[in-house]
Amino acid sequence: MQLKTRSETFIEEICDIPGGEGIKRCIQCGTCTASCPNADKMDHTPAELIAMARAGMRREVLSSNAMWYCLSCYLCTVRCPRGIKQTGLMHAFESLAMRDGVSYAGSFTPTMYRSFNHFACALGSMPEFGFMTWFYMLSNPLRAWKMIPIALELFRHGRLSIKARRLTPEGTKQLRAILEKAETLGGVT
Ligand code: SF4
Ligand code: SF4
Repeated sequence: MQLKTRSETFIEEICDIPGGEGIKRCIQCGTCTASCPNADKMDHTPAELIAMARAGMRREVLSSNAMWYCLSCYLCTVRCPRGIKQTGLMHAFESLAMRDGVSYAGSFTPTMYRSFNHFACALGSMPEFGFMTWFYMLSNPLRAWKMIPIALELFRHGRLSIKARRLTPEGTKQLRAILEKAETLGGVT
């Protein structure tokens, strides 16, 4: 039996996550990088990240800040000449990084995802005030003070709700089913 190389194993893991399957088709044209509005903040561009993943550079890819700066704007995805869903690929890298526990230390996005899941699973809804308070408690409570003027403005304009808008029992059931499915597909809660 032929043993798989480190890069083959990593590529297979990426392909198993929805959105990651196109990585083998990349021709390194760089269109995704040229389209990305946040590429200048990333330590590796979207195209570089694909090349590194295909070279088996697991640790370097998963500890990169690139996927955490992805805005999910989908420009790379609609412009890729090979039909690669680069946005999904970025989320696949996030998922693997969280699974390996090597999340980029400078990003609060994993904490944001966890706060979202906490409320979605527990209440089936997203009470904005409670959600943001929980997020700041988990990430950096001091930052919450800076956000108070913005929160008050949003509240004044009716854009911040204190009360949770509860889903119907059927809606809650459907939401939980979606989250459970996401978990079976490799999502981390
Ligand atoms: S645009 Fe598509 S083919 Fe070109 S480098 Fe990006 S992912 Fe690869
Ligand atoms: S979806 Fe993410 S990686 Fe793609 S162009 Fe937008 S910010 Fe960049």
